[in-house]
Order: sequence, then C-alpha cells, then structure tokens
Amino acid sequence: MDLVSLALEIGFSHAAELEPARLRALPEVRDMCAAGRCQRYDRSWSCPPACGSIEHTQERMHRYTGGVLVQTTAELEDEFDIEAMAAAERLHKAHFMTLARQARLLCLDCLPLSAGSCTVCRSCSYPDRPCRFPKRMLSSMEAYGLLVSEVCTQAGLRYYYGPKTLTYSSCVLIKA
Ligand code: SF4
Repeated sequence: MDLVSLALEIGFSHAAELEPARLRALPEVRDMCAAGRCQRYDRSWSCPPACGSIEHTQERMHRYTGGVLVQTTAELEDEFDIEAMAAAERLHKAHFMTLARQARLLCLDCLPLSAGSCTVCRSCSYPDRPCRFPKRMLSSMEAYGLLVSEVCTQAGLRYYYGPKTLTYSSCVLIKA
C-alpha cells in the first residue's frame, strides 16, 4: 500500500514513510498529558489513562512494520492568526479522517494516530459508557507517548516550517 501517495492525493502538505520500530513512547510526553496540557487527560477513551500504559502503547506500535507521517502546514498572517490556525486544524482533521478510513479499509490491522484527542463524537461517552465507535476512535500521537518533533526527524520531515507557519502532524502505522 503506497500510503505516501494516498496521503498526498488526499491533500496533506507533506507525507513520508515511518519505521514503527524506531518509535519511542516517552513517559515525559505522558507527564504533559497528565499535567492537563490539552485538558483531555482522563476525559476520553482515546486518551490516557484509558488508552493504555506507556508500555502497552510502545508494544502496540512496535507490532507494525510500516507507516506514514502526514502533515498540514498553514501560512499565517501573523502569530495571532487564530482563524488560519483553526482552519488548518479543521482541514488536517478532515483529511486525517479520510486517510484513516481508507487505511482501515485497505489494511484490517492498522493504527492511525491523530493530532489531538478523538473528535468522532461531539461528546465522548467516557467514563460512564463504553466507546460508541471503537473501530473509528482516534488516539493522538501524544496519547501514545510520541514526541512529535522526534517522529518528524525520524521520517525526514521538518517539525517547523519557519516563521508565520503552523504544522499539524499525524501518522498511520500498518502491517506492510
Ligand atoms: S469514538 Fe466517540 S466515544 Fe469513542 S473515544 Fe471517540 S469521541 Fe469518545
């Protein structure tokens, strides 16, 4: 499966192959989740602690043999261009939903890891009821303990594309 070509066709700004064996689930990243950096810790089935221990996420990522890192880069008017930031986030999420759906159709066992907590439902059923769509749920790269800048370097992509830009990154791991 040529995930890089598929990602570029969908409309991502950048895409490159990933080696799952090199991915590291870092406790420091989990600490940032627990510190409430994005306010989603213990509020979604897709996030820690519900998505599993750091040992579990590392082991799960290493079961895969191939993957793709995808990025959406926005040009901003200035560093306060909230509108362009929000538009880029919406575009990245929409494109990633498409990529994840297609990857799941083409490869029954794959692991899409998004930018940010799962937004499949308007309001997550956590913790009172089970996840409504476990087959569509999207955990984030950070929830799995990944330092996004490190993964970008591993894939040969930049994490930062210069002043007045903002980049969202996500990945899909597959059994190639
Ligand atoms: S699919 Fe819905 S219920 Fe499941 S983690 Fe995502 S938002 Fe929560």
